Amino acid sequence: MLSEEHEALRQSVRELAGEVVAPIIGDFYERHAFPYEIVHQMGKMGLFGLPFPERYGGMDGDYLALCLAIEELARVDSSVAVTLEAGISLGAMPIYRFGTDEQKDRWLPALCRGESLAAFGLTEPGAGSDAGGTATRAVLDGDEWVINGSKSFITNSGTDITSVVTVTAVTGVAADGTKEISSIMVPSGTPGFTVQPAYSKVGWCASDTHELTFDDCRVPAANLLGTRGRGYAQFLQILDEGRIAFAALGTGLAQGCVDESVKYALARHAFGRPIGSFQAIQFKIADMEARAHTARLAWRDAAARLLAGEPFKRQAAIAKLVASEAAMDNARDATQVHGGYGFMNEFPVGRFYRDAKILEIGEGTSEVQRMLIARDLGL
Ligand SMILES: Cc1cc2nc3c(=O)[nH]c(=O)nc-3n(C[C@H](O)[C@H](O)[C@H](O)COP(=O)(O)OP(=O)(O)OC[C@H]3O[C@@H](n4cnc5c(N)ncnc54)[C@H](O)[C@@H]3O)c2cc1C
Repeated sequence: MLSEEHEALRQSVRELAGEVVAPIIGDFYERHAFPYEIVHQMGKMGLFGLPFPERYGGMDGDYLALCLAIEELARVDSSVAVTLEAGISLGAMPIYRFGTDEQKDRWLPALCRGESLAAFGLTEPGAGSDAGGTATRAVLDGDEWVINGSKSFITNSGTDITSVVTVTAVTGVAADGTKEISSIMVPSGTPGFTVQPAYSKVGWCASDTHELTFDDCRVPAANLLGTRGRGYAQFLQILDEGRIAFAALGTGLAQGCVDESVKYALARHAFGRPIGSFQAIQFKIADMEARAHTARLAWRDAAARLLAGEPFKRQAAIAKLVASEAAMDNARDATQVHGGYGFMNEFPVGRFYRDAKILEIGEGTSEVQRMLIARDLGL
């Protein structure tokens, strides 16, 4: 059971999703355009500041609150949900967790208001699941880092309101002979930092994703985020937590598929009856509801452990795995329930179908989640 506060938040995000997002998001999606108006409304509601202290303009909420908001948004649209999820988990959270007081004071207030967005660049053309394979380099030259390299598929990195991108880079050789990887903050507009044109994506078409290149890009030495040489470890910590939010996103998509399928099955007639009266359709939708429910239990269990200060790595990986598979399965079945109309852009399930696949890839593929679970079992 949710507390009254959490339930009220869930309800108000549900209203925002239904009244502000649902009527216009299809148009942004078709045009591959970033929905600034919606992001502005989300900012006004305080969603970008949900898990951060009031001191930075945040809502002083907890991780459960953030995940509830993400689930409700994804129930209607995943581009908007991932803009919030990545904006917080990948963008603002590393600054909050590892930043100095000065860095937090400089960046967090506008991020919490949703007036600006931050991004995190870990993935590179040659290093995704094997993120330790980072080839981007940063060399300290006097009191500046000089960065050279590139990052792939970086969410929220090229919007008009993106203020800063934190990137991982090799900054030397560690004592044990391995790469020393650090995180460095690069403000938008820094000379030598180029945001490449937006990717043409299969799904998440109203979210912002770019390749980034760094060509003798100079930033102050003080832009190091956290401890030198801990960049990769810091990011893995951020990803553990982020998986719970990502699982909430998958759960929302899976539940949205149920919502749309029930509506359609009651309205659509075939052979003189609503298709929802056919047991084959009923069972399909019942299976979809069971998957969404199971995914929700999984992410809420992981979130409860996180909030209680208990180990949650395995549970977060399980939640991410089952929720993304539930989303994928439900998107396929919801499209089937809609027949030919499911293949048309006027119905949300077509969008859900296109948006589901990335959930098995982003923020750690399903194979990576299985590796994490197996490792945690001692294998
Ligand atoms: C729309 C979008 C947004 C993204 N946003 C961001 C972002 O904001 N920041 C960021 O840093 N990254 C981002 N990413 C990158 C994403 O996290 C990576 O794509 C993902 O981690 C997979 O890496 P890869 O694409 O290099 O695939 P690879 O690592 O090359 O994997 C290819 C395949 O091999 C499998 N594989 C790899 N290693 C193993 C193994 N040891 N055992 C079994 N199977 C294995 C994988 O599971 C996968 O099926 C985004 C990606 C997309 C598409």
